[in-house]
Amino acid sequence: MPDTAPNSWEARAAAHSFYGFTDLPSVRARGTVVVSHGEGPYVVDTNGRRYLDANSGLWNMVAGFDHAGLAEAAQEQYARLPGYHAFFGRMSDQTVMLSERLVEVSPFARGRVFYTNSGSEANDTMLKMLWFLGRAEGQPERRKILTRVNGYHGVTVAAASMTGKPYNDLFGLPLPGFIHLTCPHYWREGREDETETQFTARLAAELEEVIAREGAETIAGFVAEPVMGAGGVIPPSAGYFQAIGPILKRHGIPLIADEVICGFGRTGEVWGCQTYDFTPDAIISSKALTAGYFPMGAVILGPELADRLQAAAEDAEDFPHGFTASGHPVGCAIALKAIDVVLNEGLLDNVRALTPRFEAGLARLAEHPNIGEWRGKGLMGALEAVADKTTKTPFPGKLSVSERIANTCTDHGLICRPLGQSIVLCPPFILTDAQMDEMFDKLEGALKQVFAEVG
Ligand code: PLP
Repeated sequence: MPDTAPNSWEARAAAHSFYGFTDLPSVRARGTVVVSHGEGPYVVDTNGRRYLDANSGLWNMVAGFDHAGLAEAAQEQYARLPGYHAFFGRMSDQTVMLSERLVEVSPFARGRVFYTNSGSEANDTMLKMLWFLGRAEGQPERRKILTRVNGYHGVTVAAASMTGKPYNDLFGLPLPGFIHLTCPHYWREGREDETETQFTARLAAELEEVIAREGAETIAGFVAEPVMGAGGVIPPSAGYFQAIGPILKRHGIPLIADEVICGFGRTGEVWGCQTYDFTPDAIISSKALTAGYFPMGAVILGPELADRLQAAAEDAEDFPHGFTASGHPVGCAIALKAIDVVLNEGLLDNVRALTPRFEAGLARLAEHPNIGEWRGKGLMGALEAVADKTTKTPFPGKLSVSERIANTCTDHGLICRPLGQSIVLCPPFILTDAQMDEMFDKLEGALKQVFAEVG
């Protein structure tokens, strides 16, 4: 029950905050968890209750909530140069160093980096780059953007249009020119008589058809998450990127990997595209880029796009785009430290070490008759609830099964996220074996309780 005393944190939050991405009836019934501080992978609320945050905040707090090295990197940079921009031929030394480092850790031999404050802005920036390029290269009609149903790319107007979610309709989005292809989720989208290989081939054929229908000369780019995150943790069907990559290449359509969630180790390699063995033309990064300790996004251009865009910008004498805080020195200093923490201080190793335990835990819970599928890669995973395992029939939406499971978990000190009919887990990379067991034990208790209620 929410604490309704007028001066309580919950009442103050409810009185003055406009909530986003929040189930309001649920908040009215249960109140708001007002978080005051963090301890490793746990957050503690203003009532002193501790929660294991199995979502790493919003997929981003990969080093947990109290990493001393990251806080120090921020403090040192605040003392040295607390803010600067990247306009008019000026930028901070931290920005220069971070771009070097990002190209170095990218899958590209060469490249260039542009900074934003968020993943959404990085996606919008990427589109403006592609549109700028089309006009500069005498192909101004190259404007359409291909993405997938269930893909999530953010909330700004273009990034929301890229996102393949039904709630876009509430805003009169997507804008024209955004085309959503089939979600590469074999378990849900595959036909009964279709093997996974045939399913992938069907999606490749669909891409060919869409390109033929629209005209390759009207398409600016294809943007895809290596593993869909907010779509419900959906790894691609077998061979998906190998099937679509050559088609896009043949038609001169850049493939952009939205690595906002996958990037920096979540899938077990530095980049999701490395896990799935394809090389995109550019990478969109955010979240773990700063381990969530600063709002920052980046577009990392591979060699070809970097060269073509640089030439286009030289011709135009300017690329008139950027944010006040693009390349913020504190964000860059934190990102430099975060990259070290993940790559050199054992976090990526821990993702790899924990993955078998994570997968075993998911597989064990998926034995429940009301879990239709477990899926995942590295330290991102999901369990999809079903009313009937054989027919894959979902529970009626009005039962709000995944929300009830997540709420029951919260009651027991575990934060996990309901996404559609799935429960999503993407814990911080610093988790111990014992904390992972705690996560699965609490989730198992919640699953049993809720399935007994709705069963
Ligand atoms: N792209 C992906 C794959 C994401 O998961 C998200 C956010 O969850 C975004 C883009 C948008 O990032 P932001 O919320 O920082 O705007």
